[in-house]
Amino acid sequence: MTNGKSGKGGSGSKSGDSGFQGRRVTTCSFCGKTSREVGPMVEGPNDVYICANCVDLCQNIFKQERRRVSTGRTTFDEIPSPRQITEFLDEYVVGQRSAKRALSVAVHNHYKRLTAAENKDAGVELDKSNVLLLGPTGCGKTLLARSLARTLNVPFAIGDATTLTEAGYVGEDVENLLLKLLQAADYDVEAAQRGIIYIDEIDKIGKTSQNVSITRDVSGEGVQQALLKMLEGTTANVPPQGGRKHPEQQYIQIDTTNILFICAGTFVGLTDVVERRIGQSAIGFASEQAHEDEHNEDVGYLLSQVTPEDLSEYGMIPELIGRLPIITSLDPLDIKTLVMILTQPKNALVRQYQHFFSMEDAELEFTQDALEVLAERAINRNTGARALRSVMEEVMLDRMYDLPDMQNNNTKYVMDAKAIEENTPLEKLRVARKESA
Ligand code: ADP
Repeated sequence: MTNGKSGKGGSGSKSGDSGFQGRRVTTCSFCGKTSREVGPMVEGPNDVYICANCVDLCQNIFKQERRRVSTGRTTFDEIPSPRQITEFLDEYVVGQRSAKRALSVAVHNHYKRLTAAENKDAGVELDKSNVLLLGPTGCGKTLLARSLARTLNVPFAIGDATTLTEAGYVGEDVENLLLKLLQAADYDVEAAQRGIIYIDEIDKIGKTSQNVSITRDVSGEGVQQALLKMLEGTTANVPPQGGRKHPEQQYIQIDTTNILFICAGTFVGLTDVVERRIGQSAIGFASEQAHEDEHNEDVGYLLSQVTPEDLSEYGMIPELIGRLPIITSLDPLDIKTLVMILTQPKNALVRQYQHFFSMEDAELEFTQDALEVLAERAINRNTGARALRSVMEEVMLDRMYDLPDMQNNNTKYVMDAKAIEENTPLEKLRVARKESA
C-alpha cells in the first residue's frame, strides 16, 4: 500500500486509529494528502484511495489523451484532403468557393507541415501559411474559420484585433488570444500549440496617417508589431488567469510556431485602392444587372484582385502582410445566396422554424417569393447574412406567439410573400391537407 496510512488489517479503511466508526483518516494514494486536508475519498481494492482532486486530474489526462489520439498526432493519411475539407465546409457555408478552396489547401498543408516537422523529415523546411480573409461583414468569414476548426477537431479561438492594445495600456494583451486558445484546449499546451486562432477586424489596426495623437499610438502599429511576433512564431508567456501581466505571476509558455492564424477584415475602402490601381476600365462589366448586384459584383471582383501592395497602401505594415501569405476574398451575398443560406445549411433558419412547428404537430412551408422577401429585407440592412435572423424573427414573432394555441393535427401552414407583407395571422395561413386515401 502506498503512503502507508490508515488500514490496520481487515478492510484497511476501517481505521482503528480513533476507534470512531466513520471518522477514519485516509490518505490519497496518488497525492499523499489526507482526508482531513482534502475530504472524502474513493476506496479501491487493497487499501488504495483517491481524492476528488486526483480524480479531476485523471479526468483531464484522459481527455487530453483522447484528443491527442483523435487529432494531435495526425499522421499523413489521417489529414483530410483539401477536397474533403471543402466538402465538409459546404455543409455549413453557402457559396464562397474560392475562399473555401484557399482555406482547405492552407489548412491541409499546415497539418502536413506539422507531420513533416514531427517526423523530422530531412530536407525542405515547409513554411507556415497564415491566411488573410477579406470580405464584407456577415458573409461567412467567421463561420468558415469556425467550421474549419470543427472539421479538424482542433482547439480554436476567436479574437478581435480592435480590443488588443500594447502591453501596459487599457485593453487586452496579444497574449490573451493565446490564453483563449489554451482554454479551448482545456489547458493542454501541446494541443493549443497546434490550434487555430481567428483574428477578426485585422483591418482596424492599420496605422492611420491622420493619427496625430501626441501620446503613444495605443491601437495601431504597436499592436501590429506584437501580433507580428506571434504570427512569426515566438514563445509567449501567457498569464494563466488572463488579464494583465504582473511580475509575481507564473506564466504558461506557448510556442506559436505551429499555430495557424486566420486573420480577417472587411477592409472598407480597400476596393478604392484596387480600383485606382487597375483603373476604371476593368470594372463595370455587370452594367445590365440590378444596381445592387452590380455593386456586389464589383466589390467581389475588386477584393479578389487585392495584392500585398494594396494592403500596404491601405495601412497594414509590410511585415505583417508578409506573414499572411494567403490572401483570399469572400463575395458579398446576393439575394440568391441569402435564400440558399435560409434553407440549405444543416442549421438553416427555415429548418429551425420548421422544427418548432413540427414540435407542435404542424408543418411550415415558405414559398420561394417569401424567401426572396426575407432576403431582400436582410440585404437592406447591410450586415450580410447576419440580418437574416432578426428579419426572420420579426416576421415570425406573431405567428410563433399564436402557434401553441392552435388546434394542430399535422396542420400545414404556408408563408408566402403576401403573408409577410400583410402580417397575416397564422390561422389564415392554414392550408387544407389532402385526406389520405
Ligand atoms: P463575418 O463575415 O462578418 O465573419 P459571419 O461568418 O460571422 O460573418 O456570419 C454571420 C452569420 O451569418 C453566420 O453565423 C451564419 O449564420 C450566416 N452566414 C454568413 N455567411 C454565410 C454563408 N456563406 N453561408 C451560410 N451562412 C452564412
